Amino acid sequence: MEIKNRDDFFIRTFEKYRGHNLKTLLGIYKGNYKYLAGSAFWFVAKHSPVWVMPVVTANIINLATGEKPGGVEGIVKNMLLMVILVLLNIPLNYLHTRCYSHASRDVEAGLRSALVRKLQLLSMSFHKKTASGRLQSKIMRDVEAVETLSNQLFVNILQIVLNIGVALVITVSKSMVVFGFFMLTIPVAVLIIIIFRKKMRRCNAEFRCEIEETSAEMMEMVERIPVSRAHALENWEKSRMAKRLHEVANKGFSLDVTQSFLGSISWVTFQVFQIGCLAFTGYMAFKGRIPIGDVVMYQNYFGSIINQVAAIITLIPILAKGLESLKSIGDILLCDDIEQNEGKEKMENVRGEMEFENIEFCYDPNERKILNGLNLHIKPGETVAFVGESGAGKSTILNLAIGFNLPTGGILKIDGYDINELDLRSYREHISVVPQTSVLFTGSLRENITFGLPPVSEKRLQEVIEAANLTDLVESLPCGIDSHIAEHGGNLSGGQRQRIAIARAFIRDPQVIILDEATSALDSISERRIQEALERLMKGRTTLVVAHRLSTIRNADRIAVIEGGKCVELGDYDTLMKQKGAFWQLKQLQQ
Ligand code: ADP
Repeated sequence: MEIKNRDDFFIRTFEKYRGHNLKTLLGIYKGNYKYLAGSAFWFVAKHSPVWVMPVVTANIINLATGEKPGGVEGIVKNMLLMVILVLLNIPLNYLHTRCYSHASRDVEAGLRSALVRKLQLLSMSFHKKTASGRLQSKIMRDVEAVETLSNQLFVNILQIVLNIGVALVITVSKSMVVFGFFMLTIPVAVLIIIIFRKKMRRCNAEFRCEIEETSAEMMEMVERIPVSRAHALENWEKSRMAKRLHEVANKGFSLDVTQSFLGSISWVTFQVFQIGCLAFTGYMAFKGRIPIGDVVMYQNYFGSIINQVAAIITLIPILAKGLESLKSIGDILLCDDIEQNEGKEKMENVRGEMEFENIEFCYDPNERKILNGLNLHIKPGETVAFVGESGAGKSTILNLAIGFNLPTGGILKIDGYDINELDLRSYREHISVVPQTSVLFTGSLRENITFGLPPVSEKRLQEVIEAANLTDLVESLPCGIDSHIAEHGGNLSGGQRQRIAIARAFIRDPQVIILDEATSALDSISERRIQEALERLMKGRTTLVVAHRLSTIRNADRIAVIEGGKCVELGDYDTLMKQKGAFWQLKQLQQ
């Protein structure tokens, strides 16, 4: 199946069986049923010695005690049968594992792939709300728990059911009285399960929640290390994390205790039953109702039955954890906070005209409006610098222009089209975003610049490197453009990282540039080199910039002062300075 269709298949299956975890689990194995059936078949074959062994043991004892005719020859025949069955286990086990693993690894990879696809579809507001550590935990840990759940259901449960079934069938065929004794265990097991089920489920849910939150915090803590170290906050971070980890330990502790209590209660109960069974069958043999060898056989079968019932009981927490994880994966796959692009107007070309008409925007309908009646017309090729106090809504305007957030009131038009009617992905092919902190990843400088593009000619790459003022960086690196960049660009300076981000924007040759300038001060040489690179980049393209550098503000065609969710002043630098209004005041504050 094609990957996209396969991802959709998983999402559709979760939708179809919404709220029914077991049905969902069976549903996602569709297409792999033949492998599951194969694995079950080979499993029964490979497992058969376990069922035959008690009969063979009883036969040998009965032959040895002379209760059964056949003598030494009979003993040898029984032994040979057993040895052959046991040896067959190796090839049969191989066939079973091949079939099962094919199915389960396919579903595991499919689930992860569907999650990745869904994460790429979910809206940016979803991603801003959701900690990345939590998502990572879902993709890795929860899928693993589902895989364990499948293993328990398709292999262990099968084994348990077969073990119990065979033991009961043989017992029924031999003695109804002993069978009746065996059946007594069922109500006791059911009672234990009922008593513990609720508590296990609660403990599991609490533990999973705690783990998710901790992994999210752990990731943030790691990202924050440069900041916390710079402020000598190591101990503060450590005690914060210690508190969280302590909570996880506490929740894990109560889960372990409940789990182990359940285990020991069932063990003790069933051991008492087994002792009872031994005494009961021993009494029957004493009375001559059954041969002595059968005492051992019944003991083996009964032992097998109670082991299996105990296995069901210990399985409950694993099943509960797996079902909980399946639900947690469903939370993502069923989330409908997706950007809708299907069937909307595709943009082949973008001129870069933007019209903000009475724009309103709030992140939460119950909270204040961040933008409240913003009006602004940006002409193609124009550079507009947004200034204003921190929290005024400048970055929010950029996010609207990218289409990450849609206006909650008013109309935003791009080249005359309402942004709500546009296929945003086709629009974004024509824009480049230079964020405040450049996102670099592990790989070569070339890969970082050409990120996601089809192969780019060396000539074009060279032009871009020159334009972004990166020539001397490239020359100073041991392998030039193919030099390796450490994770997050750790081996580069702030200025170099920004110029790489500018080169990345350049190479896309976009018509619209969205630029959130870094607030941190750079030395004047770095500052000038970035400014030069930016000027080349912005030339002839519509540019929206949240400006902190004086040079950017001076060179912008127009400056928009944002205050109270509106544009309160608009004009070029000289005009606004002469007006001595909001912009002039802002400048006075900064000096
Ligand atoms: P600026 O860029 O001017 O500093 P922003 O556009 O980043 O301001 O933020 C404007 C307001 O919106 C701030 O009060 C901020 O707290 C709020 N805000 C920003 N992002 C979010 C978000 N994802 N959810 C809720 N509120 C937000």
